[in-house]
Amino acid sequence: MAGIEAVLTIDLGAIAANWRQLAVAAPSGQVAGVVKADGYGLGAVPVGHALLAAGCRHFFVAHLSEGMALREALGPGPMIAVLNGFPPGMDGAAALVPVLNGLGDVAARTHAARTGGQALPAILHVDTGMARLGLDAAELDRLAADHGLLAGLDLRFVMTHLACADDPAHPLNAVQAARFAAARARLPAAPASFANSSGLFLGPDFASDLGRPGCALFGINPTPAAPNPLRQVVTLDAPILQIRSISAGTTVGYGAGWTAERPSRIATVAAGYADGYLRSLSGRAAGIIAGRPVPLVGRVSMDLITFDVTDVPEPSPGDSIGLIGPGHTPDDVAARAGTIGYEILTGLGRRYRRDYRTV
Ligand SMILES: *Cc1c(COP(=O)(O)O)cnc(C)c1O
Repeated sequence: MAGIEAVLTIDLGAIAANWRQLAVAAPSGQVAGVVKADGYGLGAVPVGHALLAAGCRHFFVAHLSEGMALREALGPGPMIAVLNGFPPGMDGAAALVPVLNGLGDVAARTHAARTGGQALPAILHVDTGMARLGLDAAELDRLAADHGLLAGLDLRFVMTHLACADDPAHPLNAVQAARFAAARARLPAAPASFANSSGLFLGPDFASDLGRPGCALFGINPTPAAPNPLRQVVTLDAPILQIRSISAGTTVGYGAGWTAERPSRIATVAAGYADGYLRSLSGRAAGIIAGRPVPLVGRVSMDLITFDVTDVPEPSPGDSIGLIGPGHTPDDVAARAGTIGYEILTGLGRRYRRDYRTV
């Protein structure tokens, strides 16, 4: 039955299938599930349960609070690592694994291990080309000269992060692979974690003990120059609130941004920029009704958008217009908005009715 709010359908079965596909293809090992930003906007807890059931045993989030919520939901089994590290005062927490992004983080964690009298798990992040987080070259030199600085740590992984993995021809990829190999050789032996989604497709130099895919799990194309090898996950359908007939010359929406050049039928649906349907899509997007595209006309407003449905068989209020779906994927919508699929997914609104599918 048609409701008044837009329906966001999230295919957990597709997420699990995508994880399995990446895990099987990963050249030498396991892959984690990166579920930061509430599982790329799709719900870290339902996504986490689906991945756990599929066999995933390593999770990455960005914030400690995200890690605590995921631990609560998933129980004690899987590793849950916090990419941004722990805030001061939380250094002794043992149930989550902090990513140590600098020597200050290393000192805080080793201090906590000494104080608590037990080894504490940690992941050491070496910067090889992002200049964002991770040990810089001088810090690496200091650690390499004195492995004692890591005393008391149970080093689960040494990791780094690729800057240009979605562009296989970019020279920085090989530079980062070489820097990472050199850094690992100077550090205590530990398993390596290297590739993100796109990195998993770059070949054997980017293989590691633990891949860290995020976006590909959720249907974003990790190989932008080629067809998407993974399954789509998200469908967004917005019900039509009203349909009106307007005469030629009538303007639609804020700023009178669109003028009907002929007698037209306009359908208004319940979604807007407050729901993450970006205002930059104004005049640039299409919806789908009964398999046919209908152009978005006028500006995207906070709670409403308008489509020109003159050229399709007359819909009825309550019929839905597809905003995201097959043929207009998050990547497609992002391209029209001048952004990337990640931003479309992580911006998906809280006002949609969420319908989780498991098959
Ligand atoms: C976000 C993130 C990932 C996952 O990246 P995708 O491109 O979404 O696969 C992996 N590692 C780190 C450090 C990240 O910040």
